[in-house]
Amino acid sequence: MVKVRFAPSPTGQLHVGALRTALFNWLFARHNRGLLVLRIEDTDVSRSSEEMTQSILQALQWVGLDWDEGPIYQSQRFDIYRQAAHELVSRGQAYYCFCTPEEIEKRRQDKIKSGQHWKYDRHCLHLSAEEKKERLEKGVPAAIRFLMPDGITEFDDLIHGHIAVENKNLEDFVLLRSDGFPTYHLSVVVDDIESGITHVIRGDDHITNTPKQILLYRAFQKEIPQFAHLPLILGPDRKKLSKRHGHTAVLSFREQGYLPLAFFNFVAQLSWSPGKEERIYSREEMIEAFSLEHISKGSPIFDLNKLQWLNSRLINEMPVSELISELRPWLEKKGLWADAFLTEKKEWLERLVALVRPRSRTLLELTDMLAPFISNQVDYDPEAVRKHLLDPCLEELLPKLKADFEQLTTFMAPELEQVVRGRAEKEGVKAAVFIHALRVLLLGRAVGPGIFETLEMMGKEKTLARLGRLAEVRKSVQETGEVRNG
Ligand code: GLU
Repeated sequence: MVKVRFAPSPTGQLHVGALRTALFNWLFARHNRGLLVLRIEDTDVSRSSEEMTQSILQALQWVGLDWDEGPIYQSQRFDIYRQAAHELVSRGQAYYCFCTPEEIEKRRQDKIKSGQHWKYDRHCLHLSAEEKKERLEKGVPAAIRFLMPDGITEFDDLIHGHIAVENKNLEDFVLLRSDGFPTYHLSVVVDDIESGITHVIRGDDHITNTPKQILLYRAFQKEIPQFAHLPLILGPDRKKLSKRHGHTAVLSFREQGYLPLAFFNFVAQLSWSPGKEERIYSREEMIEAFSLEHISKGSPIFDLNKLQWLNSRLINEMPVSELISELRPWLEKKGLWADAFLTEKKEWLERLVALVRPRSRTLLELTDMLAPFISNQVDYDPEAVRKHLLDPCLEELLPKLKADFEQLTTFMAPELEQVVRGRAEKEGVKAAVFIHALRVLLLGRAVGPGIFETLEMMGKEKTLARLGRLAEVRKSVQETGEVRNG
């Protein structure tokens, strides 16, 4: 039975790299009908917070990841780690260390000055039994160090292949600090043993920790899990992905209007690919296709264009009614939602969303596209106004078109097209003069869906009102350079 874990430290937001680790663990567990444990590694009490834990859980839930056990909080398990460290001392596999940081630093400096490499010099291993007893009885603060055995530690990483390390290059690392707090190596191994973890799937940055942890499994006489270390994600400049590359916190992608399934696809496809085609895969398809063997060793590049492409693809492929459910909170936030969208205006909204979605890469862009159709307020792009609304002939032309529109009893794209083209012909101007001006007056921008469908969806009343705004919009752009009209 496969059992894996995702073990974030709640010292900050959940970032793309950690999400990929969570996602591969989840896919691996689901593919193998195994279990996923969520463990919160909050042993660094001063840097961890419950607020961050909650934000991490929220980010996982947004992407659609669930777990079968946990969250297990390491901060509630300190006694267990202390007991485990003492157990190793009693078995002679670990020892008390009374050295203060200052003493260690001094000896380290001396060693380096004489041109040698430093690792802990086992000063306290060689204390006599009486000396140790005396210090412990006096209450001298003591850390517990692992006693590094001789030999070589080897393992077969499921992604990187065979890895071997000579133990003499490792030091007697600390298991329990003198303040009683466990180090990462101790807590992680104790918990993985207790949970019965079969596969440890985590970032490359932990690969050098693995030999030490394998030695701990041996010391505890427990079975060693398999390890898979995921390659580091790079930014487009091939440097480690960081804040310099823009937003990397998972929840910020929700705020930018990405759909969870598009984001899931994007992150899953950093190092792995569910199939040959470049497309949106369902979660089920990805579970079915997932295998650790197909994860590539090379570092993947974080490419936002790909995320945008996947997102706009999903926006355009999903059923309109589902898209509207995703949009609802966005519309609500901007005061654009009406309950009539569930009843008498349902069909209108569905047609409208279908009309504008080909030009939207995110829910944010989609909301902005919908706004002028729903609201009476239009934000005019000054550039578009300058380009298409300043022609003096419009003062005469637009009222004529407005009068044509007023005559209409129905307001449908084909007849609207006839009216606009007919009026252009009569006036001896290109239809484009009307079309561009209409688009800017109606939508506030120079780009948008086909103008005749736009007019139809806008409806007669709003169209006539906006046609009457020419002078006002022009004046405002000439005076202030900005236009907000309603
Ligand atoms: N808490 C560690 C981290 O956030 C993960 C430890 C592990 O996976 O072994 O990097």
